[in-house]
Amino acid sequence: MSRRTGTVLTQRHLEILEFANEYYYKHKVGPLHHILKTKLGATKQELKQLFPSDLYSVYTWIGIPIQSPQELCKPVAAIEVENPREVYFDHNATTYIREEVQTVLVDYFAGKHGYGNPSSSTTPGKEAYEKIFDARAQIAKILNVSSTELVFTSCGTESNNLAIKGIAFRHLEHKGHIISSKTEHPSVLQVLSWLEQIGFQVTLLDVEKNGIVSPVAVKSAIQDNTILVIIMAVNNEIGTINPIEKIGEICATEKIPFMVDGVQAFGKIPLDPKKLGISLLSLSSHKIYGPKGIGALFVDENVKLFPMLHGGGQELNMRAGTENVGFIMALGRAATIMHEEMKKEQERLRKLRDVFLDKLEVAVPGYLLNGDLEQRVPNNLNIGFPHIDSGALLLSLNQIGIYVSSGSACSAGSKESSHVIHALGVNTDQYGIIRFSFGLHNTLEDVEYLFAYLPEILKQLKDV
Ligand code: PLP
Repeated sequence: MSRRTGTVLTQRHLEILEFANEYYYKHKVGPLHHILKTKLGATKQELKQLFPSDLYSVYTWIGIPIQSPQELCKPVAAIEVENPREVYFDHNATTYIREEVQTVLVDYFAGKHGYGNPSSSTTPGKEAYEKIFDARAQIAKILNVSSTELVFTSCGTESNNLAIKGIAFRHLEHKGHIISSKTEHPSVLQVLSWLEQIGFQVTLLDVEKNGIVSPVAVKSAIQDNTILVIIMAVNNEIGTINPIEKIGEICATEKIPFMVDGVQAFGKIPLDPKKLGISLLSLSSHKIYGPKGIGALFVDENVKLFPMLHGGGQELNMRAGTENVGFIMALGRAATIMHEEMKKEQERLRKLRDVFLDKLEVAVPGYLLNGDLEQRVPNNLNIGFPHIDSGALLLSLNQIGIYVSSGSACSAGSKESSHVIHALGVNTDQYGIIRFSFGLHNTLEDVEYLFAYLPEILKQLKDV
C-alpha cells in the first residue's frame, strides 16, 4: 500500500506497473497513455481510477523521474531516432568556447603568457598588463570608445550591478527615480527591486505588444528627480531590438545617464555608445563564444560611478581585484572575431531562421511568434506551441539531442511563466513557450533534424 495516498495495489495495478517498468528500461522514457491503451487496454479513465495522480503515480511507483505532479509537467514523448545528432539551439543561454579562443586559454593555462600580476613591475607583470591593455583596446575599437572607458568585470550580471548601483549610490542621500522596463534581465530587475526597498523610486515601463519599449513611454515617465534610465538593447528571451538611439536622444536632452544592457546585443548588432547616446553598456563573454566568468562595462568618461568592490586601484579604480588576465584576453579575442564576422554570420542566421519559420508554418498550424519579427536579431525565435506543455516539449527535444529553453510554465526549475512572456500578455495556459536561439555551429541539417521529429513529438504530447 502507498503510505502517502493509501492506494492498495491489485493485480491490475501490478500488471500496469510491471509493463511501465519494462518499457522504461527499454526506451529510457515512461509509456504514455496511448501506449498503455494499445498494449494493455488501460484507458485514461481506468488509470485515473486506479492511480490518484494518473501517469505520475505510475511513474512515481517505479521511480521514473518526473518534475512534480502539481507542476503539470507532462512526460516526454517516445521517439525512435535513426541518426541521432546533437543540435544546440540555446545560444542565448550560453555559447561554447570557439576554437580560436580556446587556443588563447590553453596557452594562458599552460603559463605561456599573462600569468604575472598586472600591477607588478616585474617582466611577467608588465607582460600581463600589456595583455589586458591589448584586450581593452580591442573592445574599445569595436565600440568606438576610449580604452579608459572600459572596465572588466566578472560577468554581465556584475556589469549591470556596477552600472546601476554605481549611479544609485551617488544619490544615496536624496535617493531618486529610475526608469526601466518590465522585460529587462533579472540582473537589472532584481537590483531595481532592492534599490526600491532602500528608498529609490522605480518605474518599470510596459512594453508594446511586439515586445518593444516605446521611446514616448520613456519620455513621459521622466520626472525632475530621475537619475537613470535603463533599457536593454536586445531582449534575451524574444530577441527584440529596442530603439536605443531614440531613447538615447531623449536621455541626452534631459541630461539623464542612459544605461544599456548590451549582453545579448554585443556582436550581433552594431553598437556605438557615443552615437547612440549610451552612458553605460554591459557585455558578457559567454554569449559570444568566450569563457564564462568575464564581462565588461563601458562607462562614459563623463559618468562617475561609485565602485562596488573596494581594494587595490585596478580597473581605473572602479573595480578592485587582481584582473582575470587569461579570461580578459579570451574576451578580447572572442569580441574581435565576433565583430569581424558579424554581418556575414547574422545574414547566414537570418536565412536559417527563415527556413525554420517556413517549416514551422507547415508543422505547427496556429503557432505564436513572440516579439517583433523585423525589429529582432536573427538568431532568436520564441515560439508559442498551442496546447503543448513547454516543459514536456523541452524534455522531449532534449531526449533526442536538441537543446532549447522554455519560457512558460515548468521553465528550468521554475513554476512561473517568464516575466517577458507575461509582459507580452501571452496566455500561457494556451501556449507552451520555447526559445530557439541559433549560433555558430548550426546548419540547415540541424533545422531539418528538428522538423523530422517535431510533428510526432507534438502529436504524442497532445495525446497525453
Ligand atoms: N543581461 C542579459 C540580457 C542576459 O541575457 C544575461 C545572461 O543571460 C545577463 C545580463 C547576465 O550575464 P551573465 O550570465 O554574464 O551574468
